[in-house]
Amino acid sequence: MLKEIFKNVFTKKKAIPFPEGFDVDPDQAVKVIDFQRKIDTIFHRSLRIRFVDAGSCNACEWEGTALMNPIYDIQRFGIDFVASPRHADLLLVSGPVTRQMELALRRTYAAMPEPKLVVACGDCAMNGGIYQGNYAVTDGVGNVIPVDGHIPGCPPTPTAILLGLSTIIDKFTK
Ligand code: SF4
Repeated sequence: MLKEIFKNVFTKKKAIPFPEGFDVDPDQAVKVIDFQRKIDTIFHRSLRIRFVDAGSCNACEWEGTALMNPIYDIQRFGIDFVASPRHADLLLVSGPVTRQMELALRRTYAAMPEPKLVVACGDCAMNGGIYQGNYAVTDGVGNVIPVDGHIPGCPPTPTAILLGLSTIIDKFTK
């Protein structure tokens, strides 16, 4: 046990490289640095997100969950997902919002403290996507609660979610 503790304390940590096209791309690297600056200044290094699956196929959640892995490591920005809307600054919603989820989404939005942001994650959340027109869906988050921004994609990649959030959080200052 002691041997393990000493090994962990004195071994230099190896950073896992970002996927190709993330920090490697100079444009994206600038955006990531800019994102860090915004989180530091606008949210005092603490942005809390409530992620609601409003009837998605789950692929959008998989991509969103990947933000927590050691490659994307969204917590390095001071961002974290929370279980309660009462602790959230931002509501991230995936799926076309099924009729069954409509009330739950309205209540989640109502439970969040002001000021708050709502982001529709993925094509379904934007306009119903592949479920558009189906009797069981509302064709997007915007038909249920006010939306501040959309992140397109089916599903959007973790990088797209990260950079999308970076743009949308500007509304917090306006
Ligand atoms: S946008 Fe695509 S990946 Fe996301 S919930 Fe809809 S069908 Fe699934």
